[in-house]
Amino acid sequence: MTHLLCAALVDPSPEDMLASAARAALDGADLVEFRMDALRPAPSVSHVAFLLDRSPLPAVVTCRSREQGGSLELPRALRLDILLEAVRRNSAYVDVEWPGEPPLVEARRSSASNTRIISSFHDFDRLPPDLPSILEKMESGPADVVKAAVACHCASQSALLLDLVSRGSKPRIVIGMGLPGLPTRVLGPLHGAEFTFAALDAARRSAPGQPSLSDMLRLFRIRSISPATRIIGVVGNPLGHSLSPLLHNTVFRILDIDAVYLPFEVTSDPADFVMQWSSLHRLDGLSVTIPHKSAVMKACSRIDEETSSIGAANTLYPVPGVGFAAANTDAPAITDVLKTALGASSLRNKSVLVLGAGGAARAAVYGLASAGCDVALSNRTGSRSASLAADFHVRCVPWASRASLRPDILVNMTSVGMHPDVSSTPIDASALSPGMLVFDAVYNPLDTRLLREAAAAGAVTVPGTEMFLRQAARQLKLWLGIDDPPLDDMRRTMLDALHETS
Ligand code: NAP
Repeated sequence: MTHLLCAALVDPSPEDMLASAARAALDGADLVEFRMDALRPAPSVSHVAFLLDRSPLPAVVTCRSREQGGSLELPRALRLDILLEAVRRNSAYVDVEWPGEPPLVEARRSSASNTRIISSFHDFDRLPPDLPSILEKMESGPADVVKAAVACHCASQSALLLDLVSRGSKPRIVIGMGLPGLPTRVLGPLHGAEFTFAALDAARRSAPGQPSLSDMLRLFRIRSISPATRIIGVVGNPLGHSLSPLLHNTVFRILDIDAVYLPFEVTSDPADFVMQWSSLHRLDGLSVTIPHKSAVMKACSRIDEETSSIGAANTLYPVPGVGFAAANTDAPAITDVLKTALGASSLRNKSVLVLGAGGAARAAVYGLASAGCDVALSNRTGSRSASLAADFHVRCVPWASRASLRPDILVNMTSVGMHPDVSSTPIDASALSPGMLVFDAVYNPLDTRLLREAAAAGAVTVPGTEMFLRQAARQLKLWLGIDDPPLDDMRRTMLDALHETS
């Protein structure tokens, strides 16, 4: 399996494009795409020779029309002349908009060139329902490779697009644009795609959702993906800021585990996504995040008592002969974190005030009540806390009275204090006292106002990253049987990423 990776270059001058090509070669690309339509003030035929003669890597020469994603309105004749010149100069590939291949095929014949001709189709708005037949029509032409790049609005569509890659009578490249389409870019070569594209870096994308070379090679490690590679991911919406792909792929790399972890941005029913993806492709485990934690359980044949009581799953794992099992690793993660912070083996009889009554609070109340804590619950919307308190038989405290308690442990499960509203805090500083243990589920920013004020009051503080790490560690055990994940490396990875974005 070759897994060729092409760096798409969109620099405005031929000199900059060559410099980018040199960097792409150093960074590990196999091919470069010279996007001639990116050149300013306009590309010319002489630029083709300039670039091809000096390119450090085999090249794809492309000159897009504006309606197919080009950034300049260029005369059709000029675009064709540029591609003809690339064929005569034996470029590795030219990419021509379907159905423009015939003159290039003729030029290849008459100049005894070996250029491979890619016939391409784009739709920036949608995935056309007739894409399978469009690809078949494209294949009936003289191109060597057919390529479709279409807007992908849900990861369910990426399952269908990937399936199309292997169905061709000629090599295909089928790309879903946008973050929901990312699996098509990472897994395309596994399904036989001629090659896949990456941006030189995140700031220089030539198409929506295009990952960088570094993401493809070092995060998703596409070179080592094979049919045996386990496919795991996170289902949620939106996922643009999710740290889970970074965290889990880092663990796979450190422990040399043959698995890849992908973002699956699902905008439709998550249970449908699970069923569709797993009927077409491998699926060896999932994390589940907002807003799909409840709805995803419909796809599961086994739900443990804890998850069913909480009413939300953050983990799916396959059970041979059964199907997917649902689990909630948030609840035990909270108790793990608090026990570690206290250096105690049990939380029994500790008094805990939980703030919030959303999904995370539900997991916390369940976990803490099950651990034998004396739990009090307070939420801005009293009806929600009343209902949650009744479900788990814990005390409910009016939001206005929350600062009057002096619990051993304060747990913030509201989103108050989260970026961008970083100056907010869910409880007045006067409620914080020396020796209290204060845990804040919010981890962006790392140092919330609540944690700063708690530290100033002499309390012991624990950031939300610790819960995130523990719930991820428990997921690794369920998916892969990992007993001893590299928590220190995971923590460092997560803190570095959060520092970078803050
Ligand atoms: P959710 O279901 O949307 O619940 C949000 C909670 O915050 C509700 O209780 C809501 O109260 C409360 N809230 C929001 N704005 C408020 C305000 N201005 N004043 C008072 N209360 C307010 O969200 P969730 O999934 O439970 O997540 C809650 C927080 O936990 C988020 O910050 C999330 O990032 C974090 N979290 C962290 C981890 C981790 O691993 N560290 C895991 C899961 C969640 P109302 O009911 O009154 O609206």
